[in-house]
Amino acid sequence: MSYAEIILPLPLDGYFTYGIPDTLAERVAVGMRVLCPLGKSKKYIGIVANITGTKPDFEVKDIIDVLDVAPLVPDKQLRLWQWLAEYYLSPIGDVYKSALPSGLKAEEGWHPRTELFIGLTKQFCTDQGRQIAAGMLRRAVKQLETLNTFFELAAVNGDRGVTKEELMNQSNATAATIKGLVDKGILYTYKKEVGRLNDGGADHPERIKALSTAQSTAFDAVVSQFHDHNVVLLHGVTSSGKTELYIHLIAKAIAEHKQVLYLLPEIALTVQIMQRLQNIFGGRLGIYHSKYSDAERVEIWRKQLSDHPYDVILGARSAVFLPFRDLGLVIVDEEHETSFKQQDPAPRYHARSAAIVLAGMYGAKTLLGTATPSMESYQNAATGKYGYVRLSQRYKDIELPKVEVVDIKELRRRKMMNGPFSPRLLSAVREALHEGRQAILFQNRRGFAPMIECPTCGWVPKCDNCDVSLTLHRRLNILTCHYCGAVYRVPDKCPNCGSTDIRGRGFGTEKIEDYIRDIFPEARVARMDLDTTRTRNAYDRIINDFSRGKTNILIGTQMVTKGLDFDNVSVVGVLDADTMLNYPDFRAYEHAFNMISQVSGRAGRKGKRGLVILQTKTPDLPVIRQIVDNDYRSFYRQLTAERRAFRYPPFCHLVYVYLKHRDERTVEQAAADLGARLRQVFGSRVLGPDKPGIARVKLLYIRKLVIKIENSIDYHRVRQSLRAVQQQLLQSRRYGALQIYYDVDPE
Ligand code: ADP
Ligand code: ZN
Ligand code: ZN
Repeated sequence: MSYAEIILPLPLDGYFTYGIPDTLAERVAVGMRVLCPLGKSKKYIGIVANITGTKPDFEVKDIIDVLDVAPLVPDKQLRLWQWLAEYYLSPIGDVYKSALPSGLKAEEGWHPRTELFIGLTKQFCTDQGRQIAAGMLRRAVKQLETLNTFFELAAVNGDRGVTKEELMNQSNATAATIKGLVDKGILYTYKKEVGRLNDGGADHPERIKALSTAQSTAFDAVVSQFHDHNVVLLHGVTSSGKTELYIHLIAKAIAEHKQVLYLLPEIALTVQIMQRLQNIFGGRLGIYHSKYSDAERVEIWRKQLSDHPYDVILGARSAVFLPFRDLGLVIVDEEHETSFKQQDPAPRYHARSAAIVLAGMYGAKTLLGTATPSMESYQNAATGKYGYVRLSQRYKDIELPKVEVVDIKELRRRKMMNGPFSPRLLSAVREALHEGRQAILFQNRRGFAPMIECPTCGWVPKCDNCDVSLTLHRRLNILTCHYCGAVYRVPDKCPNCGSTDIRGRGFGTEKIEDYIRDIFPEARVARMDLDTTRTRNAYDRIINDFSRGKTNILIGTQMVTKGLDFDNVSVVGVLDADTMLNYPDFRAYEHAFNMISQVSGRAGRKGKRGLVILQTKTPDLPVIRQIVDNDYRSFYRQLTAERRAFRYPPFCHLVYVYLKHRDERTVEQAAADLGARLRQVFGSRVLGPDKPGIARVKLLYIRKLVIKIENSIDYHRVRQSLRAVQQQLLQSRRYGALQIYYDVDPE
């Protein structure tokens, strides 16, 4: 008798062991789904992770059935699951739940779609046979016409066959006409499985564009750096043609019979790239899309396992879980995007890291592309771990936009602001409208962050230990640091300028829209944020209307900063750089720099140079200058020094430990207890516990600890210690029903 180690879709660590009855032994293999009993009456669909001959020293149940004839999860994918579970301290059952579309997790989850087809009976298939058929139909004109239409369709469709519906539509035949032909034995009907996937529809694919000189130099550099690097960072300014470069690399991989995985952040936000790739690769491109139905996703999964998988998969985060046969290249576009990190539920993985690990398993190369590299990737390039290719010219040498800084602190003092707008920004928008051009106004949604500032001088309270802005807890009226848990009193006057007018702040996009409609009643205005893009097509509609010039002014949150290619935008307004810069997170500067550079890149892409109006109360901050000059190097150098000094990534790893319990006192005690135990192992690397900004979710109170782990420490040992300490705590009766989970490398 042999035994199987099974992954069950439960938030529990490790595998479950089952016996394999002799009757099933021939049929079962690693990566297949099996039906497993659990407890008295429950049954789960598990995935076989291992098969062994060693009898376990405890009682096991037998698996009930094998549900696949071939492995559904190839070995390399299983190894990725294991890596994710280990690295992100996440139960492997949660990885399984995240990885498979629901249709593959339920016993009766997915049904192939079948359609009724029409075939020609064998004896009529020759020329002679056709004449006989025509003779038989001399008196049935309608049937004869229908038969002729059938011949035409069959010739065009080839192997695909002719569906009954198609024949009825094309020949205007009724069901009775077709039945007549079937009754005479000339035609017959049969059922066949048809896919739900659209084949990309590119019968006449677009030609790949020739690269410019700068682009082909970059292309050659990428290819040659792949010789001695598994990962290359392509650092190309907005509109330099990174996407064109990807297209050439994809074509090269396909020519070498390799598959490509192209990852995008939040695929809903990238219709434009989807269309560009589809125009070129047509049916060779599969799109793994959160907007697709589950059944469609199951079909993509199955197609990947078939003899004719897609050459290219374009997808968001979860596409890393798809099976590949011979993956040669992974492209992570907009690699700096925070949405590559999954927040909830577990596994809280970073798709960029997962992609690199996946590529490694296939011996494939990874290209990270962006105009604003993440600190992590830039650091890896700087140390030579990753290759690095720079593309610093925009396509056709169009200049980067001119960035004008407007000091709104001064204007506010002189009462010259119109709500959130400076006179300069309003005149620039007015001029754009006058010239028939468009404007984008960007206000980060994080403008609602719970923080305070002095509206007179722009002072924002910061933590003494961590150099991050403090979070205001309105109800308790205290300021806390999210990173070390320190608590501060809310000052009643500004320690910088003495003003007593310290307040919470926020100008949301909605309020901005109202202002704009008031000031420019003739303009057509659209707003794009989470609230306006809830429905399936709302986002596409807003983008298309703006692309086609149906709207003149687009107001939005960070959504408007992403990979969009508009022709006619002459002005971009950044309403408030400070909210982003002061966001209570050690990544605030990095994110602000990225978002402002990205949104600026939307201005003046084609035609004349664009204009960016950057409103801020702190025009003298070096980071503002760095943004104006697009000086990534200085920006990076300064940030690196700070991150190193305060011990933040990329110079160490962060692990956030969360505890949840429905009783506040219990969670508090447990957090203190856990903190003490962790300090015994990790010493001063442990910060907290702290009450996170959102301290109660779904009736559960939350506490948080932070562990800073230097890169020199063996992370494997860290995980083992964490698990051990977690076990000790969970076994303690005092904290019954306590939940502990982790966020590794938080974004
Ligand atoms: P990025 O991805 O770096 O922002 P894109 O690839 O979107 O840049 O290029 C910006 C614009 O310039 C796009 O409209 C693109 O089609 C066009 N473009 C870039 N390179 C070429 C090229 N070699 N030939 C023709 N058009 C190009
Ligand atoms: Zn002040
Ligand atoms: Zn602090």
